[in-house]
Amino acid sequence: MKVPYKRKQYWNEPTLGAWEASYLPEILLGLVVTSRVFLRNMGRWVTGKKGALTTYYPEETRWDYAPANRGKHVLTQRPDGSPQCIACNMCATVCPAKVIEIEAGFNPADSAHPKFPIRFEIDYSRCVFCGLCVEACPEDAIRMAKEVPALTSNDRHQMWLTMDEMLTWKPQSDVAKPYPPGPGTKGTP
Ligand code: SF4
Ligand code: SF4
Repeated sequence: MKVPYKRKQYWNEPTLGAWEASYLPEILLGLVVTSRVFLRNMGRWVTGKKGALTTYYPEETRWDYAPANRGKHVLTQRPDGSPQCIACNMCATVCPAKVIEIEAGFNPADSAHPKFPIRFEIDYSRCVFCGLCVEACPEDAIRMAKEVPALTSNDRHQMWLTMDEMLTWKPQSDVAKPYPPGPGTKGTP
């Protein structure tokens, strides 16, 4: 006799007591929580305290992002200013949203880095800021700065981050991730 397949259950069935099952007390409880947060934020706003309001993006942008915030992508550069990227396409391959487009060039005269990107673009209308591209890069050529990109647009075709924009990153101003690593930096002689 064929035993019926029993699918494994990965969740717990909710157990409602009489209090929850009547719903009204829980709704009132929710309203109390909402009102408390509203009044607390209103009090902070009236007294000018920090953390009272959401930033009015894009007219206002926050500046106090955590150093580890995954914001705008940047391409690191070699000391001569050329992109460190070797156009291996690993970031584009691992990207779950498939938003990285790279066009590779070839320079046989440069035996150390014969491949380089001619075009490197990211579609910010679909990027989910997961950071997998940064993790996958074998050359530490792509990073995410803590500053957020300007994302707002009425036209998603305008939301591509171009290579020129990604190459504006200045290692001198990135104290958290200096490049090239200076003397005394962990891992350097
Ligand atoms: S952050 Fe994630 S979604 Fe965005 S480009 Fe990188 S891998 Fe793709
Ligand atoms: S950014 Fe890194 S992973 Fe992406 S193509 Fe360039 S070298 Fe390869």
